[in-house]
Amino acid sequence: HWEGPGRTADGHAVKLLANVADASSAVAAAEGPVGGVGLFRTELSFLDRETEPTVEEQTAVYADVLAPFVGDDRYVVVRTLDAGSDKPIAFATHPDEENPALGVRGLRLSFTDHGLLDRQLDAVAAAARQSGATTWVMAPMVATVDEARDFAQSARARGLVPGVMVEVPSAALLADRILAEVDFLSIGTNDLTQYTMAADRLCTDLAHLTDPWQPAVLQLIAMTAAAGERADKPVGVCGEAAADPLLACVLVGLGVTSLSMAAAAVRPVGARLATATLEQCREMANAALAAADPSAARDAARAVLA
Ligand code: PEP
Ligand code: MG
Repeated sequence: HWEGPGRTADGHAVKLLANVADASSAVAAAEGPVGGVGLFRTELSFLDRETEPTVEEQTAVYADVLAPFVGDDRYVVVRTLDAGSDKPIAFATHPDEENPALGVRGLRLSFTDHGLLDRQLDAVAAAARQSGATTWVMAPMVATVDEARDFAQSARARGLVPGVMVEVPSAALLADRILAEVDFLSIGTNDLTQYTMAADRLCTDLAHLTDPWQPAVLQLIAMTAAAGERADKPVGVCGEAAADPLLACVLVGLGVTSLSMAAAAVRPVGARLATATLEQCREMANAALAAADPSAARDAARAVLA
């Protein structure tokens, strides 16, 4: 029976964090063996809003999510609005795009309306002060170094710790240069897989392509984690990949420092990780990277633990 904190069999620490959507999921997650929240999807609080919530309204929503994680070295990573594509938000999504997944979504909304991002960061900073929780903030869908620099500047101006998501292959390829601008990276494997494989994450006919065990995806994760080790800055994974206990071991072997997942996945992942040494995780990672396809990668990783 595993009760945390996250570590390998030989004691290498790995932060296990929860993905949350609102105050009730935050309260439930905080009761479990988690080091905090690795992904607070703020846009999910506003799915039914026709108009932008005021800074005061946003502050109240964010403070309710932050409050359960005050103390115990816990922290919360707040993601700024990831509106557009699979998460349409009435007041932020650009209508009638031919290819919404490749359109004005996530941080790109700030290109035409920086006020939206500025007001959200004001609210996050106010909620952080009110709650007293250690609060990091990260931007979704970052593709360039300039975007990371601009976001970091806006966050630091408000006393927030800035990071960006790695969801676009360009961000993985430029991880060293992006890490020179921000304090941490968080790999969103759902979108990173979609954009690496050019396969819609919602298309069930393409499930064999939208599989984070694809060697090309693992390669980009490896590059990103290696950049984190060089910069001595945290690199987490917050996509569904982190909830797969076997893949979690591979990710740790690749050098990832935190795993954020649905709260229900934390115990199975923590229990599996506690059975593998860091050296075994590295062996699993090398075996998976060298495999020809996702199923061979799974078999190769499993064989290391057999
Ligand atoms: C991801 O893309 O992996 C991610 C964590 O963000 P979302 O699933 O909300 O797009
Ligand atoms: Mg995403």
